[in-house]
Amino acid sequence: MDWHNLRRSDNVEDERGSGRGLGRGALPLGLGGLVVVVVGSLLLGLNPLHVLSLLTGGGGGTSSYVETGPPPNDKTADFVRAVLGDTEDTWQKIFQQQRGTPYHEPTLVLFSGGMQSACGFAATAVGPFYCPRDTKVYLDMHFFQAIRAAAGPEADFARAYAIAHEVGHHVQHLLGTLDKVHHMQARAPQTTANQLAVRLELQADCFAGVWGHHTAERGLINQQDVATALQTASQIGDDYLQRRARDTVAPETFTHGSSQQRVQWFERGLTGGDIRQCDTFAAQ
Ligand SMILES: [Zn+2]
Repeated sequence: MDWHNLRRSDNVEDERGSGRGLGRGALPLGLGGLVVVVVGSLLLGLNPLHVLSLLTGGGGGTSSYVETGPPPNDKTADFVRAVLGDTEDTWQKIFQQQRGTPYHEPTLVLFSGGMQSACGFAATAVGPFYCPRDTKVYLDMHFFQAIRAAAGPEADFARAYAIAHEVGHHVQHLLGTLDKVHHMQARAPQTTANQLAVRLELQADCFAGVWGHHTAERGLINQQDVATALQTASQIGDDYLQRRARDTVAPETFTHGSSQQRVQWFERGLTGGDIRQCDTFAAQ
């Protein structure tokens, strides 16, 4: 992915070393954290235990962790600014052309250790997530960097896709979809709520694909980048993760969609570049 000449976003808040986060040593990783480590590792074909040791400092759970600011020549933060800037330009154009309204840009918060968001406390290795209450995307840099260090530059578009997916949730928020669906979920039985969650996730994948389409149009990504991102999408489907976790698949508990669905919707956005083709709620 040729990202070096992209405009850098001004909407990145670097909270590393701000004291607003918490040191890793104070945080239990928990089951959710472990799931994210496994997901992130699978995503890049890494040994989860290796990633886990990178995240926990390699030693036992008692090592103390001093929160530090960004390292000099921080390539990862530069990459995040470039990708976020490009999603801003792309969505600004799409909103103007297809809706005639401005695109209100989200903020992206870089943190390490742990972070308080308007949606609650984010423990370390929670993976990227979007909070509609403060319209911010949260990105754990320790996690992001550990993966980058082990996987190399060919994972750039796959990592950009992870950011674009969270930005996709922000687009859903601006379109009113997120609110509407959360409201429906609150009154629905668990199975229905899960199905709605899947449709939300697949739409965010499709929106990430729409961004990818506009990136491809400018020649910034090649076939290999797309192949890697598609492989990523196929490796983070719920069915794949569940099968690996316990050898059985229970579709009613899916919250992100199957691998095949994720690839399908990402490809749909990537090929068409049109958000009107991303109506996962009307699809069978
Ligand atoms: Zn998502």
